[in-house]
Amino acid sequence: MPDAAAQRLASIRQRIAAVAQGRTATLVAVSKTQPAARVRAMHAAGQTVFGENYVQEALAKMTELADCAIEWHLIGPLQSNKCREVAEHFDWMQTLDRAKLIPLLARHRPDGRAPLNVLVQVNLDDEDSKSGAHPADIDALADAVARQPRLRLRGLMSIPKPWPNPDQRRAGFRALHAMFQALKQRHPGIDTLSMGMSDDFELALAEGATMVRVGSALFGPRG
Ligand SMILES: *Cc1c(COP(=O)(O)O)cnc(C)c1O
Repeated sequence: MPDAAAQRLASIRQRIAAVAQGRTATLVAVSKTQPAARVRAMHAAGQTVFGENYVQEALAKMTELADCAIEWHLIGPLQSNKCREVAEHFDWMQTLDRAKLIPLLARHRPDGRAPLNVLVQVNLDDEDSKSGAHPADIDALADAVARQPRLRLRGLMSIPKPWPNPDQRRAGFRALHAMFQALKQRHPGIDTLSMGMSDDFELALAEGATMVRVGSALFGPRG
């Protein structure tokens, strides 16, 4: 029987490689709403980086998949009362969008673990969405993350509006890449620009993404 998970993974990896042209690009497999068994199958196919949106759902999967070497990314909004669980159990936190979370994440990151990797989430164009920092606030947030020894500033993340027009999408990705370059002047150690999902990850890679977050194109439609 053909291994469906392995086939879908190989096809996404091929599409990434075709656009990235030798640059490294990290694929985050977005496993929200997918049962642990499907994550396990994708891990068995060779995928090690997974993204989850909801802390409780993620913790349950981490327990069930404790025998799998997985790098877990939080890609959903974080409430301050969940900072402890995130600091204790995740490897990356991609949705840092307000200063209040920073000392909480730092305080709860266990000493025995590597610093928590942090991306500042940018709200590029969606004034109605509560997630993401205003572009004018990125520097201050990034500086505050960088001052915490238990956190490691890695770069920026964004979920731009899914404009139907590809030129408009491309312009958004390009603007984010410019913000990333500007932040790199200030924090030369950053290396990650997380943007692009199932519908547009190739466009995002063409505009400088170093990390793409792919769910439905990898696992099939969510139930
Ligand atoms: C769900 C989600 C994704 C993946 O979306 P697909 O369209 O299924 O690839 C990526 N990033 C974030 C932040 C998400 O919430």
